Amino acid sequence: MLTCFQMLLYASMWGLAWAVIGDERRAVGHWLVYALGLALGLALMSQRPDMNVWLTEIGANVALLLAFICAQRGMLAFLRLPERTGEMLVLVAVTLAGMIWLGPVPQPRGWIHPGYLVAAAVGWVVLSTTWRAHRTLRDQFGRTVARVVATTNGVIGLINWVRVVIALVAPQNIVPLHVPSALNMGLVYMTMAAAASFNFMFLFLIVLRLLRRLTTLVQRDALTGLLNRRAMEQLLDRAWSRWRRLAEPFTVVSVDLDHFKHINDTWGHQAGDEVLKAAAGQLVAHVREVDAVGRVGGEEFMAVLEACASGVSTVAAERLRQAVAAEAVQVEAGVSIAVTASVGVATVSPGDANVGEMLKRADAALYRAKREGRNRVCTSEGEAAP
Ligand code: GH3
Ligand code: MG
Ligand code: MG
Repeated sequence: MLTCFQMLLYASMWGLAWAVIGDERRAVGHWLVYALGLALGLALMSQRPDMNVWLTEIGANVALLLAFICAQRGMLAFLRLPERTGEMLVLVAVTLAGMIWLGPVPQPRGWIHPGYLVAAAVGWVVLSTTWRAHRTLRDQFGRTVARVVATTNGVIGLINWVRVVIALVAPQNIVPLHVPSALNMGLVYMTMAAAASFNFMFLFLIVLRLLRRLTTLVQRDALTGLLNRRAMEQLLDRAWSRWRRLAEPFTVVSVDLDHFKHINDTWGHQAGDEVLKAAAGQLVAHVREVDAVGRVGGEEFMAVLEACASGVSTVAAERLRQAVAAEAVQVEAGVSIAVTASVGVATVSPGDANVGEMLKRADAALYRAKREGRNRVCTSEGEAAP
């Protein structure tokens, strides 16, 4: 009865998540039904042997099976994996038919309690789903999370299978679940712990996913997916600290598309957007993994090249300029727009009092590139901070 109450608490937690968080509703809905199903199944079981045996034996077991199927389908929905509906329907049909054939206690056919069919099926659902979901969980949330979920599910699945094995091999050790034997109490506590772990883990993962989405919204530019100005400023601050503490040089490359207004005026704003996306893609594709690229203005981009001294920085900047110029964007049949970019480069120097001065040098170099005819790279060497 206590476990039943615990499940009702989880159900209210999922109900709350449904109403308040309002995210991942497909998965949350499944987990709500899971908790309610477990509560119902356990409540029916606790009424043994007073209530109708069909309800407390077959009914309770069906509720438990459906509950576990919901839990696992919720996990698949949460991870955007196929939900295996056909397989589950067959499993339920076969288990149900088997249970009805065996009949409730006292068992007319005598050789195994119908509940063990359900235990075997639950074990299969839980373990096979865990097997399928493991890699996706690890890719999306890391090793630790994947391990906790695998352990939790593994415990639930194995408990069920071990019960089946004991029932088959040593049926004399089995006492009905509602009788508080040492084995049964152990099972109850382990089930409670596993259920708690499952529920809290996935609530935590929902919040984690929400947080990640928010972080992306705050740090990324919606059109190009690049880091936005705010994120680039934070990144520059970190690079500046590393320069100050570890003397690790870095380079700022300012990229401004040439005559972009003309592209908008001629082909329309949407075509302009496509050109921006293409240029962004080219920039990202042509920096090293440790470098960062952001969109810091309408048609202005910035790359921060980590651990990059002035010698190599011009080569890197020239590679970026060529990459942008090389990509022509098809805006309609037969019409491709080529765009060029002017580039200003500044590598951090002992003369810079702060990161702002360095940015001003990069800007000054960029304006010089514009003045000198565009589609070129200018460095800030000899360029005093204005
Ligand atoms: P220059 O070679 O001197 O850099 O000339 P430019 O035309 O590129 O520069 P200017 O600053 O005059 O114009 C920038 C244009 O970029 C004006 C603005 O409408 C356009 N723009 C800014 N943000 C966006 C955007 O998100 N999408 C599109 N399509 N255009 C944008
Ligand atoms: Mg501009
Ligand atoms: Mg421009």
